Amino acid sequence: MAQDDQLKKVIGHAKEYGFVFPSSEIYDGLSAAYDYGQLGVELKNNIKSYWWTAMVRMHENIVGLDASIFMHPKTWKASGHTDAFNDPLIDNKDSKKRYRADVLIEDHIGKIEAKVAKDVKKAQKRFGDAFDKAEFLATNGNCLRRQAEIDGINEKFKTAMEAEDLAGVKALIEELGIVCPVSGTRDWTDVRQFNLMFKTELGAVSGDAGLIYLRPETAQGIFVNFLNVQKSGRMRLPFGIAQIGKAFRNEIIARQFIFRMREFEQMEMQFFVAPGDQAKWYAYWKEQRIAWHKALGLGGDAAGTDDLYRFHDHIKLAHYADAASDIEFDFPMGFKELEGVHSRTDFDLKAHEEHSGRKLRFYDPEREESYVPYVVETSIGLDRMFLAVLSSSLREEQLEGGTERTVMSIPAALAPVKVAVLPLLKKDGLPEKAREVLQLLKLNYNVQYDEKDAIGRRYRRQDAIGTPLCITVDHETLTDGAVTVRDRDTMLQERVSIADLAAVVERKVGMATLFS
Ligand code: ATP
Repeated sequence: MAQDDQLKKVIGHAKEYGFVFPSSEIYDGLSAAYDYGQLGVELKNNIKSYWWTAMVRMHENIVGLDASIFMHPKTWKASGHTDAFNDPLIDNKDSKKRYRADVLIEDHIGKIEAKVAKDVKKAQKRFGDAFDKAEFLATNGNCLRRQAEIDGINEKFKTAMEAEDLAGVKALIEELGIVCPVSGTRDWTDVRQFNLMFKTELGAVSGDAGLIYLRPETAQGIFVNFLNVQKSGRMRLPFGIAQIGKAFRNEIIARQFIFRMREFEQMEMQFFVAPGDQAKWYAYWKEQRIAWHKALGLGGDAAGTDDLYRFHDHIKLAHYADAASDIEFDFPMGFKELEGVHSRTDFDLKAHEEHSGRKLRFYDPEREESYVPYVVETSIGLDRMFLAVLSSSLREEQLEGGTERTVMSIPAALAPVKVAVLPLLKKDGLPEKAREVLQLLKLNYNVQYDEKDAIGRRYRRQDAIGTPLCITVDHETLTDGAVTVRDRDTMLQERVSIADLAAVVERKVGMATLFS
């Protein structure tokens, strides 16, 4: 299926079933703002809970925080956001469309990468089991030439950005012959820098004195609280602070549904370590985070899951980093950043020391000295994670007998509705019995009750929203105290005694399934 079609399908399905709605839709919507509906909010909460459990509960030395969105404006001066949180923007004069210059170049590179991937696939088919991907990439003439082309573009882009040479960035776009996807022309304006922070005013003071920003990342709330948490929690290095919260960026373009929004949510963890230890912890967190993703089993089997992710090491490091890598996910629009793992050095804490005049140090009893800790950060967009789950889960299945079903194979532990309880008929005491079963489960799980329409149609409705288990109460239930449990993915049914139901449900949909 074409990439655009798959994204359109996801957007349509998300709206139809109450996952995601355009914001203020009755006023024709607001660009790049979305509302999470009744099922969306459940899925979002489950993703948060999976992240929080993995980061905070499973690590004795990580604690949580919930900092405010408004922060003292000096925060953003210290972090570099006031002066350098810019994106290079460029307009096409014919279509009047605006683009991020770096994204145009990245997309161009993406096209070359897609050609390499195509060559690999072809060779894989030809050589079968004997195929060695690494060797092929290292020896095949076409692949080597394409990789050299990619390296050359990256190098030129990096040099231009580091020298703040915006004319050089434009020249590169022209040299690569990049055309506007809308007008198809190369008639570009000059490249300009655009600051992404939203400004507003605090209280009744207007003008520069009351100027305040909506936070563009949650990380700074963690840095300014480093000492508060360290002292009140008696934390010793290494330790981490985790936070989930809203962030705001006035993105130049925001066209890809919830992938790029102007108001979004981040799940960030700053891990404070002794100077010199950062490389070790950077490697540790890269490995932990990719394991967290793969445990979800998106994309079906292990091989399918592996194909969905890749690391992309940064060539142009942010001003604060000594190493950085993105975990990219194969979205319907192709591989794009889902999460970042960044080794941020002591840049942030040092900058806050300078701007606040307060010491932000840790006394290390083993080294017998005080120092500003180094930081390794993991930063994932909750909305992008939501899109990753949705887009990899939605599919149409051909069934025996020529019928079809739409099913969302959302990892069971994340599914918005865990169990649907369905009385076979709307009479003979079956609804009452079904409600008893519902009562048994609803404290621990989000459970739906549905008695409308034939059982087959009810199954389809639950498949379409990704409910892992359907429990049917029939006449036999009244005598044998057992129900039929139907599995969403296999569609197999088993008879389970009501007395065992809680344990069976937990084994199939509990969060523990992700931590085995
Ligand atoms: P991009 O290059 O796509 O703009 P970024 O490198 O600026 O992203 P970070 O500053 O590293 O992103 O933010 C960490 C995470 O926050 C990203 O990996 C992404 O998942 C999420 N994120 C960033 N910007 C947005 C946005 N506009 N909408 C939704 N999620 C976002």
